[in-house]
Amino acid sequence: MTAPRIDTETIRRLPKAVLHDHLDGALRPATVVELAREAGHTLPTTDPDELAAWYYDAANSGDLVRYIATFEHTLAVLQTREGLLRAAEEYVLDLAADGVVYAEVRYAPELMVRGGLTLDEVVETVQEGLAAGMAKAAAAGTPVRVGTLLCGMRMFDRTRETAGLAVAHRDAGVVGFDIAGAEDGFPPADHLAAFEYLRHENVPFTIHAGEAHGLPSIHQAVQVCGAQRIGHGVRIVDDIVDGKLGRLAGWIRDRRIALEMCPTSNLQTGAAASIAEHPVTLLKDLGFRVTVNTDNRLVSGTTMTREMALLVQEAGWTAEDLRTVTVNAVKSAFLPFDERTALLREVVLPGYDAVL
Ligand SMILES: [Zn+2]
Repeated sequence: MTAPRIDTETIRRLPKAVLHDHLDGALRPATVVELAREAGHTLPTTDPDELAAWYYDAANSGDLVRYIATFEHTLAVLQTREGLLRAAEEYVLDLAADGVVYAEVRYAPELMVRGGLTLDEVVETVQEGLAAGMAKAAAAGTPVRVGTLLCGMRMFDRTRETAGLAVAHRDAGVVGFDIAGAEDGFPPADHLAAFEYLRHENVPFTIHAGEAHGLPSIHQAVQVCGAQRIGHGVRIVDDIVDGKLGRLAGWIRDRRIALEMCPTSNLQTGAAASIAEHPVTLLKDLGFRVTVNTDNRLVSGTTMTREMALLVQEAGWTAEDLRTVTVNAVKSAFLPFDERTALLREVVLPGYDAVL
């Protein structure tokens, strides 16, 4: 007898962890509309529902470059203290409503200084907004812990500076670093100075790799730059033939390097053909440290609950699979080991036991 399929409301109540989620891709449509009006920024539409649909359609083009272009309209409202505070607070409240108990939110401070804030002020303001959201979520009985990853943009030359920002704010909520932006033509090793500096300072980092570009990008991210996790990493399947792992795929699995997979986002950028055929299922079955993530909740019209429900409905995932990827995410969080263990033992595992 097969186990009954787990329903969406049950998934929502499960404790979830997300490692790959962009602040500027997660705004509420109504908030974008209000903040844009205050900032004098012209949007494609001022109706929140139509705006949500516009984002989704633009992102559905199957092209990573066009997908990234949608961020013009979210970044436009993240240039002021008010915008950042509101976005960060609502970000946490939306996670709480989704049943998320641990999140790492990432954003690029260098893209948020057009209104005159300094890089340090951007980071401090986001932390303030996140703290306000965490306090409200805890008071409502749905505590969420949120760490931040600072992103350097791979097509610009401020990654070393942003790495310095991550080191400076490491004891005030920043847990790691990433590089984001168009992958093709901008290989990770272009930013080696940032990664060498972070390694010297013992700050962990992940790298977007293997989404638009293939195995060489993943190899560079892990073996040249020293990434502890890979953002997406979908193309690692190119190194697996008939279930047999090549050297790089073997390294990723055996060294327990987490893959931050984002099923809906990967469909939208053309990195995967369908949820049913998404490599996340094969990689999970082969024992990779697979995690499931949202990437950009507004742009992809998604939540952690929705991503997991899609995998259950279209790829045959079970409650046990959902527990596995959640445990994987907590194990690979950029938190100290004792805090990860406590999160697992005190929150995630009892939460699963209580719901299932
Ligand atoms: Zn991403």
